[in-house]
Amino acid sequence: MRRIITTLLAATLLLTFTAPAAGAATSVAGKVIMLDAGHGGFDPGAVNPHNSVAEKWINLAIVHRLKDKLEEDGAIVQVTRIGDLFVGLAQRAAIANSRRPDVFVSIHHNSTGNPVTNGTETYYTHANSRGLAESLNFFMVKNMDTANRGVKSGRLAVTRLTRVPAVLTEASFITSNAESSAFINLDRVEQETMGLQQGLLNYFAHQ
Ligand SMILES: [Zn+2]
Repeated sequence: MRRIITTLLAATLLLTFTAPAAGAATSVAGKVIMLDAGHGGFDPGAVNPHNSVAEKWINLAIVHRLKDKLEEDGAIVQVTRIGDLFVGLAQRAAIANSRRPDVFVSIHHNSTGNPVTNGTETYYTHANSRGLAESLNFFMVKNMDTANRGVKSGRLAVTRLTRVPAVLTEASFITSNAESSAFINLDRVEQETMGLQQGLLNYFAHQ
């Protein structure tokens, strides 16, 4: 009897600790991830004065690509806008609070008057969002090879009003001439998307 119990125990442990086979569930499988493309419609967000690249389009491109990749990983992805539409900040938070995803990620790109300033930073408001901000910021910097401007606590509307873990990413500066030109090349979209995807996989692997 004792041997049977030991065998059963060993089998259970084996099931628990066997590495997932290829094609098996990832850490985001079944998780509901809400992606929020910043700005839209009459609100272009930051615009590069040198080449007129507008933040609203880059944010949307990243959300579309990231949605595809996360769905391949088994996640359920919701978005606050799918096209070039204006959605108010409080409305974005209200959408998140009514649908209650596992996480809310608002995608933005930064701006400043200096055309060479670039780097990555990520904002959160509530303590339950800090881990998500750390993970996304780390993997964006790793994949984009940008200067790490760090994870910052701030009272931005979408992170303050949203009750689920909520962050706002500023992966890079649209006002950087080199950066905004790089976005015309799809490799740059891919690097940022991979950073965000890896950040989410890492976050959920540790929940
Ligand atoms: Zn923005």
